[in-house]
Amino acid sequence: MSVEIEIKATSGQARRGRLITPHGTVETPVFMPVGTQATVKGVSQDILEELGVEILLGNTYHLYLRPGVEQVRGLGGLHRFMSWPKAILTDSGGFQVFSLSELRKVTEDGVTFRSHLDGSSHFLSPESSVEAQIGLGADIIMAFDECTEYPADAARVRASMEMTLRWGQRSKKYFEDHQREVPWAGGVGMGAGTQNHPAEVLSTAPGEPGWPGQMGALAPSQPTATQALFGIVQGGMEHVLRRESAERTVEIGFDGYAIGGLSVGEPRSLTREVVESTLEHLPRDKPRYLMGVGTPEEIVEYSRLGIDMMDCVLPTRAARHGLLYTSEGKVSIKQARHAGDEGPLDPSCACRVCRRYSRAYLRHLYASNEVLAQVLNTIHNLSFYLDTMRRVRHSI
Ligand SMILES: [Zn+2]
Repeated sequence: MSVEIEIKATSGQARRGRLITPHGTVETPVFMPVGTQATVKGVSQDILEELGVEILLGNTYHLYLRPGVEQVRGLGGLHRFMSWPKAILTDSGGFQVFSLSELRKVTEDGVTFRSHLDGSSHFLSPESSVEAQIGLGADIIMAFDECTEYPADAARVRASMEMTLRWGQRSKKYFEDHQREVPWAGGVGMGAGTQNHPAEVLSTAPGEPGWPGQMGALAPSQPTATQALFGIVQGGMEHVLRRESAERTVEIGFDGYAIGGLSVGEPRSLTREVVESTLEHLPRDKPRYLMGVGTPEEIVEYSRLGIDMMDCVLPTRAARHGLLYTSEGKVSIKQARHAGDEGPLDPSCACRVCRRYSRAYLRHLYASNEVLAQVLNTIHNLSFYLDTMRRVRHSI
């Protein structure tokens, strides 16, 4: 078993379901917070659990450079390393290579690039990206793709799409040959099903596999569980190319399908059109993941179109810049008008920040550049996003 989706209800194109992963179930449609460096910046894992986070995203590019895949693998994989017993998805590293690194050179083989940290030279290919993602051990891993830039002419979009298809095939081939090498392969049953295995909890001691303290509770509940590999649809903004990319990606055959290459500077109306037309060509019995979106309004809209999974740095990054999403719209907490406001940030929000602190205090923390400002702002924004998705699921 890798990852499956059970659809529980539909409403128009929208679907409510459960994603079953080796590290627990995830209610969908879901927004996945981004934990770039094996941490959601400023928020500890116990608070993420309190917020109801069931799946996190990790960035392969960053973890590959620091602390390194072998280090994480040696420490039992990403779940154990970061003490996160629930589901994790890693990206392929491709997007960051294209957006962060310098002096990158793309060939049919893969991408040569220089680290943004120390300038050292590295090579990522479909094979080495999947190898890295198997070593990190996320529940869902992504095929290596090229995110086509926008705007791009038709010939360039086709050439890029064709290469992504060949890279998708190579990603799958490497995955099929090596998926048993995941750090938790054959792991003893704990994990998301801890409460269902009291005997195992009691029979293990600190340090032994399965110990429910720091080391335990992080192996998958089924010893035969494996990772899932998702394919990525590209094809720029052309419906015809998106359709072809979707059909040929489905032909290769993956455990789930992502729509990539959007939110790259195109108008929002175009994003929506492309998502809608691409979804028509994806199988209904597999998870559908829209990469790198969006605002609270957008995640609601894309859920209505039939997307099951989304991720975005927006709630966490905006929070660190003092931009907060509330039921009354966006609030810039740095503004002087909040300086004497004793009311909560969002009167409709039940998060630990809105229950306890005033706008005046949050504004003071931000103006004083206190670390706590980033922590509290991030907790609220994530809470707002997760509540938004809860409401979406209830409405389906
Ligand atoms: Zn709140």
